[in-house]
Amino acid sequence: MPVINLKSGREKSLLRRHPWIFSGAIADIQGNPAEGETVEIRSSRDEFLAWAAFSPHSQIRARVWAWEHQTNIDDGFFRVRLQRAISARQGLFQDIEDNALRLVHAESDGLPGLIVDRYDQTLVVQFLSSGAEFWRDTLVNLLVALTGVESVYERSDVDVRQLEGLAPRSGLLRGNEPAEYLEISENGLRFWVDVHQGHKTGYYLDQRTNRARIRGMAKGCDVLDCFSYSGGFTTNALTGGANSVLAVDASAEANELALKNVVLNRLPVERVAWQQGDVFQVLRGLRDRRRSFDLIVLDPPKFAQTASQAQNAARGYKDINLLAFKLLRPGGILATFSCSGGVSEELFQMIVAGAALDAGVEAQIVERLHQGADHPVALNFPEGSYLKGLVIRVTR
Ligand code: SAH
Repeated sequence: MPVINLKSGREKSLLRRHPWIFSGAIADIQGNPAEGETVEIRSSRDEFLAWAAFSPHSQIRARVWAWEHQTNIDDGFFRVRLQRAISARQGLFQDIEDNALRLVHAESDGLPGLIVDRYDQTLVVQFLSSGAEFWRDTLVNLLVALTGVESVYERSDVDVRQLEGLAPRSGLLRGNEPAEYLEISENGLRFWVDVHQGHKTGYYLDQRTNRARIRGMAKGCDVLDCFSYSGGFTTNALTGGANSVLAVDASAEANELALKNVVLNRLPVERVAWQQGDVFQVLRGLRDRRRSFDLIVLDPPKFAQTASQAQNAARGYKDINLLAFKLLRPGGILATFSCSGGVSEELFQMIVAGAALDAGVEAQIVERLHQGADHPVALNFPEGSYLKGLVIRVTR
């Protein structure tokens, strides 16, 4: 088994069981490990620390699979880890009938680099690290055996694969080619999901509980849903009795899909207006036309991948939040989100507070929102927490 020895003083994060080993922490590598192969991690005093997967091209040079020396990293290991992740969801969601859930949330489920989302009888998987890639056949076989799904589809066509030196990849892995749109249920609503071309694995499962919260606030409201994608918030606002919804997204295909989802749920389509455009521009246009709303949702894409990009991201968040505050009626609600890993919850709150100040409004946080429970955050891996939302009421 190849061995990686760490530099003296660089064991600290591993001793707290953080699963990433950065290249700068490594003193030497023995045994010429292949890409994704299991390596033994040893301290500068040559004590065993962990078993990890080797990523020769990434700054994160290895990701830990297991902390116990007696653990074998083999099919049986992955069976246990996958079963644990799947069972956890069964326990957490006994009360819901949704047929769409994230089954595996990478590091936070002890499976670095592996994402598995279930959409009814189809699993959509992403292999985001060399280690996950190395074990892909094992993982797919086990997933089929453990879930009994009909099809497994790969959507590893994401930028982070480049950091691992892996080419983008997507396509059918098992079973039958999924239909153009799969139908899922979420909080009693139905949605069409495009697993071939849709964002991420086809749908933003992480907002499930937050969409239900918006439903509970929308009655009688004029709603502005910014970055609306397939209409998750729009359909929920309509279900909750919204008076009107203006849905804004840069993508014409997204707006078309959102319209399909409104129709699928037999919601009053005449209450929705769609606008294809850049939210930054659209908000300015609405301000200039003195439009106003009771409830605004801001759910932008990731503005910052890493903490080093947080500055630029902060400017973007401040801009849209400031404009949104200007469009809110007194007593109105802003539900504002950030899914940028590099922007902490604390920083996000500061940015939004600055936006309110500059917009000349007084406001209070009435609720804090996060990714749903099927996207857990391992306590030894705070990076797993990426989606944060603030529900803010403008008091004056
Ligand atoms: N709210 C959605 C998810 C939003 S994902 C849900 O609940 O499912 C982010 C969306 O923002 C994508 O649909 C993307 O097309 C859109 N987008 C990205 N940049 C944009 C911009 N500058 N203006 C408008 N839409 C944008």
